[in-house]
This record gives sequence, C-alpha cells and structure tokens, in this order.
Amino acid sequence: MMQIKEIIHYLETVAPLSLQESYDNSGLIVGNPSDDVTGVLISLDSTEDIVQEAIDKNCNLIVAHHPIVFSGLKKINGKNYVERTIIKAIKNNIAIYACHTNLDNVLRNGVNQKIGETIGLKNMKVLVPKRNLLSKLITFVPVDHQEKVREAIFQAGAGQIGDYSHCSFNTTGEGTYKALEGANPYLGQIGEVHHEKEVKVEVIFPNYLQGAVVSALLKAHPYEEVAYDIISLNNSVSTIGSGVLGELPEEMPITDFLNHLKQKMQAGCIKYTEPHKETVKRIALCGGSGSFLLNDAKKHQADIFITSDYKYHQFFDAEGQIVIADIGHYESEQYTIDLFQELLQQQFEDLKIVKTSLNTNPVRYI
Ligand SMILES: [Zn+2]
Repeated sequence: MMQIKEIIHYLETVAPLSLQESYDNSGLIVGNPSDDVTGVLISLDSTEDIVQEAIDKNCNLIVAHHPIVFSGLKKINGKNYVERTIIKAIKNNIAIYACHTNLDNVLRNGVNQKIGETIGLKNMKVLVPKRNLLSKLITFVPVDHQEKVREAIFQAGAGQIGDYSHCSFNTTGEGTYKALEGANPYLGQIGEVHHEKEVKVEVIFPNYLQGAVVSALLKAHPYEEVAYDIISLNNSVSTIGSGVLGELPEEMPITDFLNHLKQKMQAGCIKYTEPHKETVKRIALCGGSGSFLLNDAKKHQADIFITSDYKYHQFFDAEGQIVIADIGHYESEQYTIDLFQELLQQQFEDLKIVKTSLNTNPVRYI
C-alpha cells in the first residue's frame, strides 16, 4: 500500500512547494501523510460535493489545484462552504492536497504549458522568469575523484540549465592543507602541509535543492572536511516563473483564432478587446488571474494575451497594442485535472486515480 506522503513527495519534485506565491497555501491542507492511499480523486476545487464524491468513489485523497483554505480558519463551525468542506473531509478521513501556484510557476508539466499544448502553441517559454531561485556551488575535489563527485551532485539535481543537464565548469589547481592532531586525513600526514592537485568544480542548482545537493557532495567527496562555497545568484530561471509565451505554427486570422480558442478551451464565452491587427501568431497566456502580466505580454510583442478574471477597467489597458482575451478562470485551468492524472499515472501505475465527474465551476453562462 502506498502512503499519502509518497504521492506528495512526487508531486513536489514536479512542483516544489517553495515555488508557490506568498499568498498561496499549497500543500497538505487536511489529512495524515502516513495514511495509506485507497485512491486519489483529482479536481480543480475542493467543495463539499467533491468530498462526497471522494467518499462515494473510495478515494481518501483529493488532489486539487486550488487550496480550499488560503489564509487560515479561526473558527470551524460550518458557517460557510470552506468550513463545511474541511469538517466533512476530517470527519470522513479524507485528505486534501493542493498544488496551486507552484504548479503555475513551473514550465515543464505546468498549468500554462498544458494550456499552450491544448491550443497548439510551439516554442513555449516562461513569460516572466523568476529571479533569486538559483545558487552556485563551488567545491574542490582531488583530481581522481572529480567524476564521482560531479555525477553525485548532478544526480541530486545540480547542473541543469534549460534543456541541458550535467553543466559544470572545471579548473585544475593546487589545494593545500595541514591536518592537525585529531584529524583523519584522506591524503597527507598529520602535522605536515600537504599539496594536492585538485579540481575546482562549479555548478548551479535551484535553491530548494540545496539540502540534497550538499548532502550528495558530502557523501561522494573523499575528504573529512569538504571545502565548498554556496553563492546566491541573481540570475532568472528560464523554466520557472509566471505565464507562457509561445507561437502558433501559422499566422491565423484573429476571428478564426478566437473560435479555435473557444472550442479548445470549452469556453462559455470569451470577452476580448478590439483587435489592433488582423492576424495573430505570438501568444502570451496565463491560467487563472493573470492581469498582472499584461505589460510583460506587451513587452514581448504578443498579439494576444489569454487569461481570466479581467475587470471592466482593466480591459482598457490593452491600449490598442494587444488583444486581451478573458476565457474564464475555470475554463483556463480545467486541463490541470488531466495534467495531474497524467503525472500520477506515469509515476504510480497501480494507483487508483479518478478524475472528478463534477464541474466545480461556480459560473454559468446563458
Ligand atoms: Zn485558478
């Protein structure tokens, strides 16, 4: 039997919790991580009906995109749907796990890549890459141990740049040390200054992997005291951040594209601004509430910006420079359910995974 924490661990290697936005509350919201999993119910939202569906379908874990609790609950007496959902989940031993803006912020297997694939975009990249997520590890290794140490830190996730793995820079030089009384030097004698030909290995890694990378280094390195530096970098990470920028394979008349978008995203309606040109090719998009990305979409000369939750006055911000298209929040993120299913199924073949058969969209169209 598999435990809830194994599923969480896997989802957090795809979408690390540390990548969530400050207002978010992704993670295990209700439940005991050590419980065995009877089945996983996947949904966009957690509601009382979703908890009931989990009970009916014998799934004791709900994996949802939106956290049911955002800012904390001071009293839990069932006065609103959030409290009633939590009470019902706890009473029935149903765990609720949310994977939200951390899944929005990763390009690979993320929410926005899924939308891009659905509407047929090519050459997708993150619209606004995040900064301050990277560090550099510099360490010094005796020459004949360099392969082993490099491989160990690569395995722990260091040395990834875009679509490249095993990235490092290596320079050979000479290290010195004198082992003092009580030391147990791998090379050299107590009380003598030792000179050793060493390689200075430099690799970058995402901050959230620091523990894993350092422990891999310490395990693979032969020295009793391993010398290493960790330096915070100001670089942005091309695969982590907000929104996606991509291109249609062919330029398309704007009306054809809007119809294509409406059909592919199963949108009840699309609210859009006056087109400033006749065709579209370059597309910026952000699932959920993405209005904060409009200027970046303009900066990258996107013909259209697809998102949701636009207010009347915000539509004026198009300024004849871009088309803003609001396709609806639920609609923009609905394929996240398929995304969770694909991710979980490929990792856990025997796991019972059920996609919700309920539409939790609170909005209707007439
Ligand atoms: Zn959302």
